[in-house]
Amino acid sequence: MPNPSLLILPGDGIGPEVMDQVTRVIDWFGAKRDMPFDVSTDLVGGAAYDKHGTPLHDDTMAKALEVDAVLLGAVGGPKYDDLDFSVKPERGLLRLRKEMDLFSNLRPAQCFDALADFSSLKKDLVAGLDIMIVRELTSGVYFGEPRGIFEEGNERVGINTQRYTESEIERVARSAFELARRRNNKVCSMEKANVMESGILWREVVQKVHDEDYPDVELSHMYADNGAMQLVRAPKQFDVIVTDNLFGDILSDCAAMLTGSLGMLPSASLGAPMANGRARAMYEPVHGSAPDITGQGKANPIACILSFAMALRYSFDQGDEAARLEAAIESVLAGGARTADLMGPEGGTPMSTTEMGDAILHALDASL
Ligand code: NAD
Repeated sequence: MPNPSLLILPGDGIGPEVMDQVTRVIDWFGAKRDMPFDVSTDLVGGAAYDKHGTPLHDDTMAKALEVDAVLLGAVGGPKYDDLDFSVKPERGLLRLRKEMDLFSNLRPAQCFDALADFSSLKKDLVAGLDIMIVRELTSGVYFGEPRGIFEEGNERVGINTQRYTESEIERVARSAFELARRRNNKVCSMEKANVMESGILWREVVQKVHDEDYPDVELSHMYADNGAMQLVRAPKQFDVIVTDNLFGDILSDCAAMLTGSLGMLPSASLGAPMANGRARAMYEPVHGSAPDITGQGKANPIACILSFAMALRYSFDQGDEAARLEAAIESVLAGGARTADLMGPEGGTPMSTTEMGDAILHALDASL
């Protein structure tokens, strides 16, 4: 069997800084767990624009379609704000998502006990929280036609169209049920079937996929507005939430903030299986390029390292090794290690990005 392959795209701003720490973790798994990866590195976003005049070179896109998984840091920054829309750094990211057809976006909301005080909710509501939002990423109201701003009589009208086909709903539902089987076997599907036909179809298709192929998974349905309330009232009632592009955009940000800092949040975007059976996949932290702290050694690398943990679990079927990495991070935090973004009101001296990487590698060593 060839080694699994990874394409690393550090991107802009703090992207390369946090990705350096991920590279050390990848090397650790190669050396200490006999899990070598074939790693290649390339440019994306502003860094690619600076070299090639485009935020994603065709050769990089071709590589992304060949590898088992892509790890991305972050793109963007003030230097690129005035560029034409077609070559903005974000276009590189959107092209990757589109051409890899990454329709299932996984956003975990996981609260490490040591950071429970960072949540805006009461500690007991979030301590130990571990939920996963599966957002449909390639269809729905952000893509539906017709769209635009049109003249209508003597005024203008803005139009977007919520549109879902049965097969689009079916594939993301399958992705959520498969995920639930690896977790606590519960899926809650959220839509607005009370006021939207697309919601009625969504509910029907999710139920049908469940009844035919996943009867062992516990399925419930909830209107998305109630879902938002329940997420802040009693988030631990959920395991996997599956929802459309628009509701998923909002609900996943809401759930993410239950856990405190942007520097802690990983994500995965999965597509259809390739010839070798692995789903196309891209893993990236939720945060952006953080220009305000770039180059200062202040960035928290944990979101990016947790994104690699997701790659271990979802692309490489190494759930135990992913758990080893997550436990190492948990123990480092429990021991009081904090980057600047995790400093509480009690203060103290924050660690640098590299020192946090050092601490996680030590904890990994200790896990052997
Ligand atoms: P941001 O996520 O970059 O930063 C928001 C705030 O969180 C900043 O104060 C930043 O210092 C802090 N922060 C973010 N990540 C951190 C980390 N790992 N450790 C410590 N602190 C961290 O969002 P923004 O400021 O709105 O956007 C900055 C740039 O990033 C923009 O160009 C934007 O378009 C881009 N962006 C890219 C992505 C992506 O690549 N997926 C996502 C969001 C924003």
